[in-house]
Amino acid sequence: MSRPGGSPAPVVEVRGLAKWFPVHRGFSALWPGARRRHVHAVDGIDFTIGEGETLGLAGESGSGKTVTGEVLSLLQEPTRGTIRYEGRDLRDAPRGELKVFRRKAQMIFQDPYGSLNPRFSARRTVMEPLQIHRLGEPREREARAREALEICELRPAAKYWRKLPDELSGGERQRLAIARAVVLKPRFLVADEPTSMLDVSISAGILNLFQTLREELGLSMLFISHDFSVVRYLCDRTAIMYLGKILEIGPTAALIREPCHPYTRFLIAAVPVLDQATRRARVTVPGDIPDATEIPSGCRFHPRCPFREPRCEKDTPQMKENSPGRFVACHLF
Ligand code: SF4
Repeated sequence: MSRPGGSPAPVVEVRGLAKWFPVHRGFSALWPGARRRHVHAVDGIDFTIGEGETLGLAGESGSGKTVTGEVLSLLQEPTRGTIRYEGRDLRDAPRGELKVFRRKAQMIFQDPYGSLNPRFSARRTVMEPLQIHRLGEPREREARAREALEICELRPAAKYWRKLPDELSGGERQRLAIARAVVLKPRFLVADEPTSMLDVSISAGILNLFQTLREELGLSMLFISHDFSVVRYLCDRTAIMYLGKILEIGPTAALIREPCHPYTRFLIAAVPVLDQATRRARVTVPGDIPDATEIPSGCRFHPRCPFREPRCEKDTPQMKENSPGRFVACHLF
């Protein structure tokens, strides 16, 4: 198989990436020979993100999007698979190189409180990562912190310098969290639903900020969202994730206009109607996403798929290129 939706100069390459969490249920789980159960949060995924490219990652809650982002930011260790950053396999990287990667790869969370200390002023919040990574002298750190605040449109920086997170609006808090990441001059950003807790008008400003950062800093991004209007605005390509697997990946505009995989069709049909061009018959899929400890055999989407055939319960569909840059894992394609 050629590279799924490959781009000429990949910054991040993921191959066979998996993250499982053991489940301990009662004393019986401790008995010798007891079957070990795992949550298959991420279950063998492949993708690349090119230089300056934004890859969207969409799917229902519980599909493994956030864990994928955390593993890519090295906040969680993968169970198996490889992550290559600028061609270097991170499994082989010495500690010093991993530290540089941790600086160059930053994650923005859905709830900015997750990354902000409520007792730290904006100044301290943005200067702290520079201290942790021992970058620059105090005066230089201060200049970089001011610059990061202003890039993130907290202008003038002096106005926000001494403010605590509680003294900022929701949008300003998210800008502060972004400034804390940007101050390290990252090459790669994972953004996990960064606008989902904000009002529409405020979230539009944050999306514009991501667009600006991408253009001005040449950032590559993994943008996690369940909102297809956000994905369409920001993402060059989009991957659709279900129960730990990527079922479809391709250029965002084409994927939204003509979704191939039944699950993608279901997700897009569930959106209130993006515009007239994307209006289509509703595909209703019964049930909820299954428990990730009990992955269905064959195609993992088969229990909910209205188009399933007998072979779908036994044979796992492989990812196939359906059209240039468009990959689908479904027996129908
Ligand atoms: Fe549906 Fe079968 Fe395609 Fe799976 S492989 S999505 S069950 S048609």
